[in-house]
Amino acid sequence: MKILIADSFDPSLPKRLSSIGEVLTDISQLKDADVLLIRSKTKVTEDFLAGAPNLKLVIRGGVGLDNVDKKACEKRNITVMNTPEASSVAVAELAMALMLAYPNRLIEAHNSMKEGKWLKKEIKRTELYQKTLGLIGIGRIGTEVAKRAKAFEMEVIAFDPYIKSNPYAKIVSLEEVLKKSDYITIHTPLTDETRGMIDQEKFAMMKDGVVIVNTSRAKVIEETALFDALRSQKIACYATDVWPSDPPPEGYPLLSMPNVIMTPHIGANSKENLLRIGDKIVEILSNTKF
Ligand code: NAD
Repeated sequence: MKILIADSFDPSLPKRLSSIGEVLTDISQLKDADVLLIRSKTKVTEDFLAGAPNLKLVIRGGVGLDNVDKKACEKRNITVMNTPEASSVAVAELAMALMLAYPNRLIEAHNSMKEGKWLKKEIKRTELYQKTLGLIGIGRIGTEVAKRAKAFEMEVIAFDPYIKSNPYAKIVSLEEVLKKSDYITIHTPLTDETRGMIDQEKFAMMKDGVVIVNTSRAKVIEETALFDALRSQKIACYATDVWPSDPPPEGYPLLSMPNVIMTPHIGANSKENLLRIGDKIVEILSNTKF
């Protein structure tokens, strides 16, 4: 079995896989590969697959499969798998970090000290305690966020059309989440149904000064409506790990807006998570025979 590692995984993975098959690490060897290991960087499109005549299995280390053309894989009898459970805690912890950064003025406090300023009086913090967190999507990651928000004694509500109940959140309508939340975190996959679901009309329903945290996919939010809501300060802060492309285009408006806190799509990048993803891939391939 020839296993091509196309994206970045834990450095121990090639050695761990070497007892299962021949490990390839150069994308020019795609034509020989039986198995392709990707994260979010490699885009598995029709054109890409045309260069992979032997491919039988694609494993996406992580959750979202929006970088894989599943129909094109199905047409070529290529199985597509992912490792959805591994990343939940890693992404949830980043969502919490993003949610805590704004009320604690962490970026401003840190940068001002670096500039030699002492803004003890000027920097006014607020608390998450007793604020309402509204989650949009409460699957694996959403549940881990809700659990952590409960520990901060937040009021936790969630909208998810496919979930009836959750131990950490009261399931409510989307309208209720939008109208009641001080903080909104987004945890849906990117699908035809969720693409652009947060649009101008949804922003208008939100509280003034709401904080939005997005660790799901950028395109769940309609871009122009987001820019408008930030410029008018309807949103106090948009804290995001996700972008329309990795990296976003040069001069992308969010990069220079003052009320945006940003990370370069590192939600799944914890050391522990990369090890968990590696474990899962070894488990899958140990049980795979071609
Ligand atoms: P999941 O499938 O466990 O949960 C997603 C939830 O969204 C489900 O409960 C589903 O019912 C719900 N949902 C679907 N359509 C909806 C809609 N229209 N409105 C509200 N809810 C809806 O997935 P997960 O493991 O929690 O991951 C969620 C997403 O997070 C992934 O699809 C991926 O896009 C993103 N993600 C990002 C990173 C990162 O690095 N930032 C890492 C992993 C995952």
